[in-house]
Amino acid sequence: MKWFDYAAPGSLTEAFELLARHPGARPLAGGTDLLVQMRAGERQADLLVDVKRIPELNELGCDASGTLRLGAAVPCCVISESELVRRRWPALAEVAAMIGGVPIQSRASLGGNLCNAAPSADGPPVLMVLRAICRVAGPSGERRLPVEEFCIGPGKTVLAPGELLVGFEIPPPEPASGACYLRFTPRAEMDIAVAGAAAAVRVEGEAIGWARLALSAVAPTPLLVREAGEYLAGKPATEDAIRAAAEIARDAARPISDVRGTAEHRRRLVSVLAERALRVAVARAREAQA
Ligand SMILES: Cc1cc2nc3c(=O)[nH]c(=O)nc-3n(C[C@H](O)[C@H](O)[C@H](O)COP(=O)(O)OP(=O)(O)OC[C@H]3O[C@@H](n4cnc5c(N)ncnc54)[C@H](O)[C@@H]3O)c2cc1C
Repeated sequence: MKWFDYAAPGSLTEAFELLARHPGARPLAGGTDLLVQMRAGERQADLLVDVKRIPELNELGCDASGTLRLGAAVPCCVISESELVRRRWPALAEVAAMIGGVPIQSRASLGGNLCNAAPSADGPPVLMVLRAICRVAGPSGERRLPVEEFCIGPGKTVLAPGELLVGFEIPPPEPASGACYLRFTPRAEMDIAVAGAAAAVRVEGEAIGWARLALSAVAPTPLLVREAGEYLAGKPATEDAIRAAAEIARDAARPISDVRGTAEHRRRLVSVLAERALRVAVARAREAQA
């Protein structure tokens, strides 16, 4: 592994200065993607700018409107153990407890998970169905965008050089709503998804008010399948409707064949996982309605 320098700024301003002064610098959060890639020679950096000491990136709490403000560098174990997250956004706590194993979760962040832009990342589909907004900041100010617009290709994001993902804003859960993420991995843990599906649903009596469905590992980026949600909105929450929405998701998937699975296997997995995730989300929404 090539030698590199290390800096741990205590503020966003200091971090922006370091990133501007060193074109070969890269942000470091938990390092569970970046250090592995650097050791394998897949990525290079002259300077690692550790963002874990920046207060804004470590935020975890609600603002006055009940919106969750989640810093990009908050470790997954803090998210999955947070009483607030477990109570209000259980699907988020669940996915944080799914990434790697306990040692990985003590370092890995959902910000790093998104910025690494792996199609197979588990966090982005959940953030998408929960309507998370990314807060991105750089020397010239802050901008905000929905999570589904953040990744633009494998390993590629909308971040400009010198910009950081500061965190996420996740709106409060609506009454009678529920969410869920399911993935298929050959091993129970410490494995990467062959395919994954996240669903969020609001029920209104026997009908679905709105629904959102997002997929992992079946397209060049994590994928929000808007058409599936649009199909379900206003329909009775029946098995047939759920199955039809899962078929829409399957048709939207653009999987590849690789060592982990064939494209055909992945398409089949999308049908099964999307259907199951929608069913769990509807059940959770009904529980919240009761
Ligand atoms: C054994 C093992 C098991 C794993 N299991 C899973 C799994 O089950 N599911 C899964 O999705 N992933 C898994 N991963 C991948 C990895 O752990 C996750 O993607 C993790 O969430 C990355 O977060 P991090 O904080 O470690 O990111 P880092 O490695 O620190 O950073 C990742 C990338 O994001 C950039 N970056 C980080 N923070 C910021 C920021 N705030 N602003 C701008 N750029 C930033 C870095 O420069 C780097 O390019 C696993 C990895 C290992 C080694």
